Amino acid sequence: MKILLGAHTSISGGVDTAIDRAVKIKCSTIQIFTKNNNQWRAAPLTEETVRNYKNKLRLTKIKPVVAHDSYLINLCAKDETILIKSREAFIEELKRCELLSISFLNFHPGAHLGQGESDGIKIIAESLNIAHDQTPKFKVKSMIETTAGQGTNIGYRFEQIRKIIDLVEDKKRLAVCIDTCHIFAGGYDIRTEKTYENTFDELKKIIGFKYLKAFHLNDSKKEFGSRVDRHEHIGKGYIGLNGFRFLMNDKRFENIPKILETPKGPEMLEDVMNMKVLRKLVVVSNL
Ligand SMILES: [Zn+2]
Ligand SMILES: [Zn+2]
Repeated sequence: MKILLGAHTSISGGVDTAIDRAVKIKCSTIQIFTKNNNQWRAAPLTEETVRNYKNKLRLTKIKPVVAHDSYLINLCAKDETILIKSREAFIEELKRCELLSISFLNFHPGAHLGQGESDGIKIIAESLNIAHDQTPKFKVKSMIETTAGQGTNIGYRFEQIRKIIDLVEDKKRLAVCIDTCHIFAGGYDIRTEKTYENTFDELKKIIGFKYLKAFHLNDSKKEFGSRVDRHEHIGKGYIGLNGFRFLMNDKRFENIPKILETPKGPEMLEDVMNMKVLRKLVVVSNL
């Protein structure tokens, strides 16, 4: 069975170096930042950088590549200046993804900072509509990630993601990413067969599987429903191995990329370990 499994991979030394790292630890899919994630601005991608990246990627079987946007971006920021800056930066990231032929730009919906969830959702959708209007015909999809709901973060209920989708005009431009740590902290259990089924029944009913294009596989350092976002190595946190066993063997999600965002050092040895743990959970059928 083909497993689309990989990790968030550093671009230190240039975006193309992520491909070298991913090949070294045998990822079949990856997530990257296309720029420094703690800065607003970035030098434009040169033709040479894009060419190097694409040439390296072509020699691998890695597909798809997911990009994660900057942590500074808040698509429902309360401060007008930050909101404008966030919208501009998000559009810039869409452009970088398009240049690199990256399929998805993953982002956290936003923190409403006291404006309320309902207004926050409207502002997020408006931000996406502006971004899509300014990048017509782009292939890269804006991928909404479920959150743990820490602070005033929106996106910890499937209903909130649904509302954003409903308010976005060009729905073809959207995708959804499920982060196991985030949904668990947000109140969706996956530790038993029953709770796992319930969670994905709800996802199917409220969001729909057609939007589901990626998983972030992270165990949780914090308890169920804690609304605190702390990633733990697979099987070492409060979710435990069972939840990941159900997911790794779920035929419905066989072709959906599963990407680790667990703590790691520069050699990515922890990713090697976590991928090994996940692969071992896959039950090989003799039928
Ligand atoms: Zn994530
Ligand atoms: Zn997280």
